[in-house]
Amino acid sequence: MKRVVAIARKTLRMILEASRDMYPREFGAVLRADQGTIDELILVPGTISGKRHALFQLHTLPTDFAVVGTVHSHPSGVFEPSDEDLALFSKFGGIHLIVGYPYNEDTWAAWTNKGVRTPLKVVP
Ligand SMILES: [Zn+2]
Repeated sequence: MKRVVAIARKTLRMILEASRDMYPREFGAVLRADQGTIDELILVPGTISGKRHALFQLHTLPTDFAVVGTVHSHPSGVFEPSDEDLALFSKFGGIHLIVGYPYNEDTWAAWTNKGVRTPLKVVP
């Protein structure tokens, strides 16, 4: 899997906006990247947004080699992965974003599939 080093600002804004729309429930989507930059969201059919957790129905996704990981929101404001998140991260993709309430450009983090926080540049 290609290393992801950045996210397009418009994609980040889309994530933050969708997270605000879903509040107090969680928002979840799958991330696509082009040349190491995340630039697209895919809404997974059957994703259940609960008060506690966005459950991904990842087996419903067609094979897509541009998919690099997932994003979901934490209405609690904490953007550290939970144990369930770490279990999901280890099974799918290589990079996972968590955005925390109040969902602005400083309240999110990117994690590797091993649960290590990783820097991600925001690019125009
Ligand atoms: Zn979570």
